[in-house]
Amino acid sequence: MYRKKIVAGNWKMNGSVTKNVQLVSALTQSAPDNIEIILAPPALYLSGVKAQLMGSSIALAGQNVAAEGQAGAYTGEISAQMFADIGVSYAIVGHSERRQYYAETDSLVAKKCLRLREQGLKPIICVGESLAERESGQAEAVVSRQLKAVIDYCGVELLADAILAYEPVWAIGTGKTATPHDAQAIHAFLRQLVTIYDKNIANYLPILYGGSVKADNAASLFSMPDIDGALVGGASLVAQDFLAICHAAKASMVG
Ligand code: PEP
Repeated sequence: MYRKKIVAGNWKMNGSVTKNVQLVSALTQSAPDNIEIILAPPALYLSGVKAQLMGSSIALAGQNVAAEGQAGAYTGEISAQMFADIGVSYAIVGHSERRQYYAETDSLVAKKCLRLREQGLKPIICVGESLAERESGQAEAVVSRQLKAVIDYCGVELLADAILAYEPVWAIGTGKTATPHDAQAIHAFLRQLVTIYDKNIANYLPILYGGSVKADNAASLFSMPDIDGALVGGASLVAQDFLAICHAAKASMVG
């Protein structure tokens, strides 16, 4: 099954006008072709980064989106329609930091996915277990619950235009990476789960791994059959590190 590799950089609450210009300029100069590269800067910087990306195939993602569909009195929120309006193609939903620090529930994540689909945006849906959940043998149950909430609310068809990201919470920003074998096991489990609903959608669904992906562990992760790329946090802020991950993704497709 051919699936193009995808590398997405989640800048989180980092960046400045000056730093963004330097980072994006380095990326546009040396990014490999034939893989999908997505950048998720803070929403405030999306338009500036978009202008800099003119003529490049690098796509943009929001880091979050409002669960409300209609414009209105929702102070601080940014709707899917607004992202579509400025030419953003994706948005991250269900990131563990949103689940942990902003009490986002499975059902809220599902609503956000629907809002994105209504506007023709693709969700990057994050799922992942905590360390305690992994150690008590619940990793599969947790990611299955998180993904099923989206499928049950939006329909499996949503996954025909979505990216799934497996991000074990214990590996995010900690320097601990799941072994390629452990990550592959959960990716295969997730794909199998989608197969129960729709085999074709499951076959084409890109499943990214996220959690301390760096230049030196990317190639071994990308060599796994169900790991279709990476969602990168910390290393996406350093041009040469992010580029090395992108080049590892490209090399894994050639090899
Ligand atoms: C993330 O926040 O999605 C992430 C994977 O972060 P890091 O690469 O820093 O672990």
